[in-house]
Amino acid sequence: MASEKSRNGANHYENVACPFCGILCDDLEIGPSGEGLKVLKNGCVKSVAGFERPLREPSPQVDGKDVSLDEAVAAAARLIKESRLPVFGGLGTDVDGIRAVMALAEKGAGIVDHALSEGQYRNFKVLQSSGWVLTTLTEARNRADLFIVAGADVHELHPRFFERIVCNEASMFSDNPPKRTVVFLGENLDQSAVKGKRIGEVVTIPTKPERIAEILDAMRAMNKGATISGDTIAGLPRATIEDLFARCKGANYGVIIWAPPSLAFPNADLTVQAISEFVKEINLTTRFAGLSLGGNEGATSASAVCSWQSGFPLRVSFVSGAPDYDPERYAANRLLAANECDLLLWLTSFSPDLMPPESDVPTIFIGQPGTKPSRTPKVFIPVGTPGVDHAGTMVRVDNVVSLPLRKLRDSKLPRAADVLEKIEAAL
Ligand code: SF4
Repeated sequence: MASEKSRNGANHYENVACPFCGILCDDLEIGPSGEGLKVLKNGCVKSVAGFERPLREPSPQVDGKDVSLDEAVAAAARLIKESRLPVFGGLGTDVDGIRAVMALAEKGAGIVDHALSEGQYRNFKVLQSSGWVLTTLTEARNRADLFIVAGADVHELHPRFFERIVCNEASMFSDNPPKRTVVFLGENLDQSAVKGKRIGEVVTIPTKPERIAEILDAMRAMNKGATISGDTIAGLPRATIEDLFARCKGANYGVIIWAPPSLAFPNADLTVQAISEFVKEINLTTRFAGLSLGGNEGATSASAVCSWQSGFPLRVSFVSGAPDYDPERYAANRLLAANECDLLLWLTSFSPDLMPPESDVPTIFIGQPGTKPSRTPKVFIPVGTPGVDHAGTMVRVDNVVSLPLRKLRDSKLPRAADVLEKIEAAL
C-alpha cells in the first residue's frame, strides 16, 4: 500500500503520533528528506532517532543465509512445531502485532512475556493486591498544581513529558492557569526541561530511590496525625519532609509521578505501594493521584492486549491449552537463564537495541533491520516499524486511549503481525 499523503502533499505529515516512547505524543510534523524522513516540528532525541533511521530492507535469513520470506516463515514454523517450550519475548510491537503473538503462542503452546515486564510487575503487583488512584496525562496537564517526581529520570525516559504535561502555559480551563510546583525526589534527575512561566517553584530533595518509600510512609503517618520521633526521616532533615507534606496538604490537585523501570532495586513494588497508599489516604482531604510513566517499546500495548485476551497482564503460558498465569515462573528472563525453554521468538519492531538476554537458546528474531544480535539467530525476519513503515494502533502509557499510527513512507518491510500470522498458518 502506498504511504498516506497529508493535506500538504509530498509526504508532509502533521499531527503524527510518535511510537518511540510510552507517552505517544501526537503533534509531530514529519517531512521528506532525501530517501528518508525528517522530524520538522515537536520532535525529541528519541523520535528523531526513530523516524530518521535510514530505511534498510535486508532479506530474511536462515542460519545467516539470505532466503525468501516464505522460506524463513517455514523454518520458523518448523522450529516452533519441534519446540518443547517456546518463549515469545521482546514483544516490541503494536496492538495488531501483540494480537498475532497471542494467537501464535496459543497455537504453538508457548509463553508470552515483554522485554520490560520486570519493571511493569512493580506496578502490577500493587494493582493486583491493593489498588491505586491514578490520573491520566490529560488530567494531570490540565488540573495539577503540584507534581512530585519520585525517583524517575522522566526527561531521559520521555524527553517531551515536561514540555507537554507540566510546562504547558494554558490549560483546558484557563488561558492563565496558576503556577505549578515541581518537586524532584531522587538523585541526579534531569530538571532542565522544567522551565517557563507556568513553573512557580522547583524543589529538589536528594534521596536514594530505595528510601522514597520511607518518605511516603512517614507522610502517611503525618496525615493520620501520628507523632514521628527523631530529627531525620529517610536520612533527610525532618523539616524537609514536613515541608513536603505541607505542600501535599495544600495542593488543590497533587500528582506523584514514578516510572517502574527507574525503581530498579529489590522489592521496588513496595515503593509503588507506599506511593499508592499515601495517594489514597490524602485523597480524603484534597485531590491527589498517581501517574505511572514508562511503557516504552510497546510495553503498555502488550500488557493491555494480553489482559484483554487472556485475563492476565503478560507472563502467561498456553502450554495446557488454556491461559495459565504465573508472574515468577513464566518470566522470560528466568526461563532463559534456567534453560527451561528450548526456543525464543524475539520481537522488536521499534528499536534495533532491544536485545534478548544472553542465552544458548535457539532464536527466531523478528526485528528491526539494523539489529545486531550477539549470536546468529536460527531465523531472522526484518519487519517494519509501526507508525513509520505501516499504520497501526498503540495504547498510551496511562492506558486510557489508543492512538492511531500512520504509514509515512513506502517500504517493502512486512508488518510483524503479518509475519506472525503467516508463521501461525504454517504451524
Ligand atoms: S517524548 Fe516520546 S512520544 Fe514524545 S516525541 Fe519524544 S519519543 Fe516520541
